[in-house]
Amino acid sequence: MKVFGVVGWKNSGKTGLIERLVAEISARGYTVSTVKHAHHTFDVDQPGKDSHRHRMAGAKEVLLSSRSRWALMHENRDQPEPPLAELLANIGAVDLILIEGYKRDDHAKIEAYRVETGAPLIARQDASVVAVAGNGGNVDIAVPVFDLNDTVMIAEFILRHVGLLEAVPPQDDSPQLQNDCFALPTGVDWIPVDAALDKLRRSIKPIVGHRAIPASGALGRVLTSDIVAKRANPPAANSAVDGYGFAHSAITHGPQSLPMLKARSAPGAPLADAVPVGRAVRILTGALLPAGVDTVVLQEDVKIVDDEVLFEGPVKLGANARNAGEDIQEGQVALKSGRVLHPGDIALLSAVGCKEVSVFRRLRVGVLSTGDELVEPGGLAPADKTYDANRPMLLSLVEKWGYHPVDLGHTPDNRAALQDKLDYGAENADVILTSGGASVGDEDHVSALLKEAEALSSWRIAIKPGRPLAMGVWNGVPIFGLPGNPVAAFVCTLIFARPAMSILAGGDWMEPQGFTLPAAFEKHKKAGRREYLRARVSADGRAEVFASEGSGRVSGLSWADGLVELEDGARDIQPGDPVRYIPYSSFGI
Ligand code: AMP
Ligand code: MG
Repeated sequence: MKVFGVVGWKNSGKTGLIERLVAEISARGYTVSTVKHAHHTFDVDQPGKDSHRHRMAGAKEVLLSSRSRWALMHENRDQPEPPLAELLANIGAVDLILIEGYKRDDHAKIEAYRVETGAPLIARQDASVVAVAGNGGNVDIAVPVFDLNDTVMIAEFILRHVGLLEAVPPQDDSPQLQNDCFALPTGVDWIPVDAALDKLRRSIKPIVGHRAIPASGALGRVLTSDIVAKRANPPAANSAVDGYGFAHSAITHGPQSLPMLKARSAPGAPLADAVPVGRAVRILTGALLPAGVDTVVLQEDVKIVDDEVLFEGPVKLGANARNAGEDIQEGQVALKSGRVLHPGDIALLSAVGCKEVSVFRRLRVGVLSTGDELVEPGGLAPADKTYDANRPMLLSLVEKWGYHPVDLGHTPDNRAALQDKLDYGAENADVILTSGGASVGDEDHVSALLKEAEALSSWRIAIKPGRPLAMGVWNGVPIFGLPGNPVAAFVCTLIFARPAMSILAGGDWMEPQGFTLPAAFEKHKKAGRREYLRARVSADGRAEVFASEGSGRVSGLSWADGLVELEDGARDIQPGDPVRYIPYSSFGI
């Protein structure tokens, strides 16, 4: 965790400074905690209170909790006050801890001063004071000097110093795509799905900056760099079971009997002494193997008689022992950049001692519906109106994929309104998904507008369902102009937008894993277009498809658990023939 200190003499204004910094830095979206070193006569508890009575009676720790806060009071008693590092270990994960006092500790600090008292004094003697902030005066000192009230400047200095400022870079610092990145070679009319995917993959790159965050909170985030194990796992040989450890060299075939040491090795409490050859020692799961022990016999496999451990030989050398580094070696790459962290990865990060990771900023995905006919659900709309199904569908896909959904609402088929929405979207999102108006009809304003801005590339992809995909770049922000039909919008998002957004977010290209299943249906398919049918697995393990292929049939999306993918060529499918089934889960939904 990042720490930064504020020090100063009495009445130098350090508490006021901390107070303003906490407010300023929190307002920028960082989580902040503070540590305050109090005077030895100060007490957090009060005589007569129940907690005070608990403490007086001798409780080692008292946890005092109410609706508004809780505090753990730990009695130092005759023990010395713990060092700062030990105290910090009690604070939950945050972006930054501001520390008031502790001027003798060596973390970086700013000194608050007032000229009246002849300051800054600490900075002159202590190299850990990396800046000063005071009420003016002619201060001749080799570190940056701030006005004590210039909270914004001081906050930025601190955030930069601890490495948090690049964290949320201004939008224009993020790499941008070129306007023509989606352009197809001239003369290309229809393109097959694979060619479209290949072109898409080569057209884009990550477009978000990065930031450091606690590893424990990095679920679903994308690593910007490889994670190298800081320590081997396990760091030393230990026992895989509860049992008895000994030197294998003393063991032969047949009944064995080893006198037991009056000692044991437990996890976190290893045995310091060596175990002589021919003796056994009690050892618990996870406990380090003491010197002289290379093999462990399971407690269920022994009898203890008169302090002797009895069991049957032979036993394999190294049985029930885990070698140092058998899971991962120090310096080995534990996780590669571009990895989207899942719960197992979070465990691995901890196991190799990684506390903080650098991840890509979460991709913000704007979702906009277009069409004069669209209305919000609720109330009974006239028959010429359509409830907007695409926007909630797309927003929930975005959320499911771990991106930040930005609801851009709905716009009628009107060029100016659309332009406003795209301007707003480009300011507030990293990528925009629109649905509807992507074709070349009179009311297809998404493609018309992008074309006018010379930022459109209309991809006529040989796919069913799905009409042209309007690919564009608006003010540097990529746009996926999806078809309006909900089924087509859904399929195009899964097949094209999902792998592309993964790259934009800093991750790898994604190919959904499919499974070959016998068809539960009959279909004659013509050559030319790749087809995706709404499908699910029947009770007898066959792929059944939705009764209608109509691309407006939203109920089929809900009925299905996946898609059947039929290759570009012609096929005459009979029940029992193999088909490729891709479950929704392979698309991360
Ligand atoms: P378009 O691509 O704009 O020509 O729309 C094709 C079809 O999809 C039309 O029947 C639209 O009414 C329908 N449609 C477009 N957007 C949506 C939406 N957000 N929700 C439901 N249906 C839509
Ligand atoms: Mg429309």
